[in-house]
Amino acid sequence: MPIRVSNLRLPLAEPPDSLPAHVARVLGISASAIGRLRILRLSLDSRHADALRHVYSVEVETSEDASLLARLHERNRNQEVRIEEYAETPFIMPAPGAQPLASPPVIVGSGPAGLAAGYFLAQAGYCPVVLERGKRVRDRIHDVRAFDSGGPLDPESNYLFGEGGAGTFSDGKLTCRNSGPDVYRILELFAECKGKPSILYENHPHLGSNRLPAVVKAMRQRIEQAGGTVRFGVRVEDLDIADGRLQGLATSSGYVPAQVVILATGHSARDVYRMLVKRSVPLAPKPFQLGVRIEQPQEAVNRVHYGGRSLEQLLGPADYSLTVRGPRTLFTFCMCAGGHIIPSVSEPGYFCTNGMSLSGRGSPYANSGLMVTIEPSEFGGDDILAGMRLQEMYEQKAFELGGSYACPVQRAADFLAGRKSADLPAASYPRELVSAPMEEIVPRQVIAALHHGLPILDRRWHGAFLRDAILVGPEARGSAPLRIVRGDTTRETPGITGLYPAGEGAGYAGGIVSAAVDGLRTARAIIERYAPVRSMRK
Ligand SMILES: Cc1cc2nc3c(=O)[nH]c(=O)nc-3n(C[C@H](O)[C@H](O)[C@H](O)COP(=O)(O)OP(=O)(O)OC[C@H]3O[C@@H](n4cnc5c(N)ncnc54)[C@H](O)[C@@H]3O)c2cc1C
Repeated sequence: MPIRVSNLRLPLAEPPDSLPAHVARVLGISASAIGRLRILRLSLDSRHADALRHVYSVEVETSEDASLLARLHERNRNQEVRIEEYAETPFIMPAPGAQPLASPPVIVGSGPAGLAAGYFLAQAGYCPVVLERGKRVRDRIHDVRAFDSGGPLDPESNYLFGEGGAGTFSDGKLTCRNSGPDVYRILELFAECKGKPSILYENHPHLGSNRLPAVVKAMRQRIEQAGGTVRFGVRVEDLDIADGRLQGLATSSGYVPAQVVILATGHSARDVYRMLVKRSVPLAPKPFQLGVRIEQPQEAVNRVHYGGRSLEQLLGPADYSLTVRGPRTLFTFCMCAGGHIIPSVSEPGYFCTNGMSLSGRGSPYANSGLMVTIEPSEFGGDDILAGMRLQEMYEQKAFELGGSYACPVQRAADFLAGRKSADLPAASYPRELVSAPMEEIVPRQVIAALHHGLPILDRRWHGAFLRDAILVGPEARGSAPLRIVRGDTTRETPGITGLYPAGEGAGYAGGIVSAAVDGLRTARAIIERYAPVRSMRK
C-alpha cells in the first residue's frame, strides 16, 4: 500500500530530486527503501518572508511496511509532517453500452468541454465528429492578432470562437473548485498534450495564453488519431428533432445526420440560445456574474503582497482573490497577474472585457474582474432570454461609447468622485481607450457594490488598491445566464432523446477544467448507453 507524506516543508532552494532523501528522513528509513515517488500537491508557505518554504504532499511506495510506518508516526505527534496510508480513487470509464447508433456522436464546439468529450469518445472507439464554427488555431491566431492591431472583428474567428473555444486565449489558470479522479484525469490530459507536468500538483496551475494553442491542437490531433473527425468552419444552425428524438443538425455546410449530439457551444454563442428557444428546448434561468475589470500596476500588487521585498523573481508576480460582503457582495474574478485586458467579443456591435496573461506573466499590469452575482429575479419576467438580453444591452452601450472596439475606461478615483476621467493613463488593452463613465455600461447593482466595496478594498491595501487604478468594462460574460435543462444522471435533455448539453454554455461549468470535466462526464454517459460505432461497423 502506498503512503502519503504531507506537510513536508522544504526551503525553496531544495531541488525536487532531493525529495526521496527528505521523505526517507521523515519516515526514518533508508533512501534505498523508497520506491516510486509522486508529488500530489505543492504549495508555498510565505508567512515568513525570510524563511519561505515549499510545502509538499507526496505519494510514495516503500519496501517497508506502510501501516507500521503510519503507526510509528502516530506515536510521534510532535512532527508537523503527516504520514498515512494512501489509496487514490481510480479513474473509471464504464464498459460500452449496447444501444446501437446509426451515425457517430456529434460534438458541437471545440472548447474544453467539446475537446474533452471528443477525446474520451474517440479513445473508446466512438469515432466522434466535432463541428466547430471557427478556424483551426493556427489561422485563428492571425485573426486575433489582426483584431488586436485595430483590424475588423471576424465573427467566426476571434477570442471566443475557433479551435479550443474561449479557453485558447484565456489566462490558462487551471484551478477547479472540485477534485477527484475526473479532475486529475483532465489535468493529466492537458499535461500529456503539451501542458507542463507541474499542473498536476501545483496549487495554482497556470499555462498562459501562449501555451494553450499548442495544448488544444495536441488534443484535437489525439481525437483524430483515435478515429474522430474535427471539421472547422461548420456552424450548427438548427436541430432536426422528430417525435422527441434528435435526427440531425442543419449547419452552414449542409445537413449532418446525428442521433446523439453533445452541445458544447459556450456561453457566447447567443445565436444558439435563440435557436434553442425556437426549438422549445427546455431552458432555465440561472444567476450569473456581471461587473467591471480593474487594472493596477503589477508593481503595486507585488508591494502589498511581498511587503517591499523583491520576491517576484522567486515567486512571480503576486496575485489576489478578494471579497467584500455588504448589501451586495463584490468579489474579484479571473485575476490575471502580469496580464492584459482583452476585447472578449464575438459579435459585431457589442463590447465586453476579460483578462489573460502569458506564461511568463511579464506585463507590468495586473487586472481582475470585480463582479456581483445577478439573480434571475432581478432580470426575470417570462422571458427566458432576459439575462442574456441584459448582458447584450450593456455590451451594446459599451460598444456605442467606444465605437470600433475602443475600451471604455474610467480612473477608479474618478468613478468614486462621480466624474468622467479627463485623461487616461497607459493600459494593457491592445486597441484604443475611450474615457467613459462606468455608470453607463453596468447595472445599478454593480455600481452600488463598487461604491461600497472599492473604498473597503483600498483601506485594506492602505491606499494601494485604487492608486493609479482604472476601471474598464463591462465584464459581462462571467458565466452563462441560463441553463439548458438535462437529467442529473442521464445528462440528456428531457423530452429530446440524444441531446446532451455540456460545458459552460449549458450552464454546468465555469472555467477550463470544470468545462472539460463536464465534457468527460457527458462522454461517459454516452459510452455507458450506446455501443461504439467502430464495433458496430464490423
Ligand atoms: C479571456 C478569457 C480568459 C479566461 N481565463 C480563464 C482562466 O484563466 N481559467 C479558467 O478556468 N477559465 C478561464 N476562462 C473561461 C474559460 O475559457 C471557459 O470557461 C471555457 O472555455 C468554457 O469551455 P466550453 O467548452 O464550455 O465553451 P467555449 O470554450 O466557449 O467553447 C465553445 C466552442 O463552441 C463553438 N461554437 C459556438 N457556437 C457554435 C455553433 N453554432 N456551431 C459550431 N460551433 C460553435 C465556439 O466557436 C467555441 O469554440 C477565460 C475566458 C476568457 C474569454
